[in-house]
Amino acid sequence: MPSRLFDSFGYLTLHGADLSVYLYCCLLVHKQPDEDGQFVFEMNSAEADTGYSERQIWRALASLQGNPQRTPQKGIPALEESSLAKNKPPLIVKVSGGKFLPDTYSICTEYGSPIKIYRGDKKETLRGMLFSTGLGYFDVPCYLIDRLSELKGAPLAVVLTGIKQAIDLQQAKFVAILKEWKSMAGITKDADLHSAWECKTVHDLMRVSHKKGQRRAGVELFDPVRGTSLTQNMPEAMDRAAEKAAISAYEADRAREYTQQELEKWFLSEFPEAEKRDDEFYVDCPECHGMRQGKRTPTLRVRFDKGGAGVMACHAFIKKLKRSGEDVFCSFETKGKVPYHLIATRDGIAPRQALERMRNYILVLRGERAEEIESEVAFSTSAPAGEIPI
Ligand SMILES: [Zn+2]
Repeated sequence: MPSRLFDSFGYLTLHGADLSVYLYCCLLVHKQPDEDGQFVFEMNSAEADTGYSERQIWRALASLQGNPQRTPQKGIPALEESSLAKNKPPLIVKVSGGKFLPDTYSICTEYGSPIKIYRGDKKETLRGMLFSTGLGYFDVPCYLIDRLSELKGAPLAVVLTGIKQAIDLQQAKFVAILKEWKSMAGITKDADLHSAWECKTVHDLMRVSHKKGQRRAGVELFDPVRGTSLTQNMPEAMDRAAEKAAISAYEADRAREYTQQELEKWFLSEFPEAEKRDDEFYVDCPECHGMRQGKRTPTLRVRFDKGGAGVMACHAFIKKLKRSGEDVFCSFETKGKVPYHLIATRDGIAPRQALERMRNYILVLRGERAEEIESEVAFSTSAPAGEIPI
């Protein structure tokens, strides 16, 4: 499935019914004999397979197409209202359908075109198409997608982010930091994490050992059919992921113009108030302003060990929807944006000017002369964070 399911931090970008319905769509695509990214959507089967109601599925389909249907609620501050109203880039697009025709959709590019149109005469697989349209791909066991209704809610988010961590680390056995895992999965309570681990389908795929009160847990992936640990039997997907990671690490290294240290110094010169914890900086999020109990908290996380000029993401928990009980997170869209875009927003200047200010700061830091003329080839070698395939 497209790796747009995750942001540059490895955080899930979809939650609740949106996540289940999206995975269900990917399953339908996968089942097509000609994997061209299209699928026919039938409500009855979708309800049975995802465990969500017709209303929730319609709402998820709308939101996956980039236009969330909001139910007006009283008492939401204006700021929150505006962040919820903002459209997200579409993940699927309706191709055809109508009163007497089945609804057909397609996986789409970030601009909303069905990915098939990029195939042309090439004999490309779905995976190839996802890769060449810049969507990237993420391998998910069919075992999981076939059991979406059993995994409904937190278990699905937990198992997906567990697999994501294993693929990123290229290890079928690893130690997970619970706080990080919760953030990636978009859940707030420890109890949700624990009950997800105990969910049978999750347990078939991964065993988690955790001692009460500890911040870390041991995780081991299993072959759900054979019941054997994947540490002895590295699946093909892991090999592919490892190979791809090695290639992109090599490319990222070559493309990197600035070191992590240089970027961090520059960032602190622009945001002296940034809080540094481990390798991450926390600053005020321009979208949600991290309000917690009426107090402003820096929730936008920025780090410089990834991407050509760093990456950023905010996943602040905003509220629980009264009607469906679903959690709402900050939707600050950072795809294609890197930390110097923050300066542009804050100071009301063009991103290119912000980039030049960054470049000049670093040149001076190196004892080189700052450039006065605007460069046309601004930063073309380093891919923006969101476009680096996972
Ligand atoms: Zn935010």
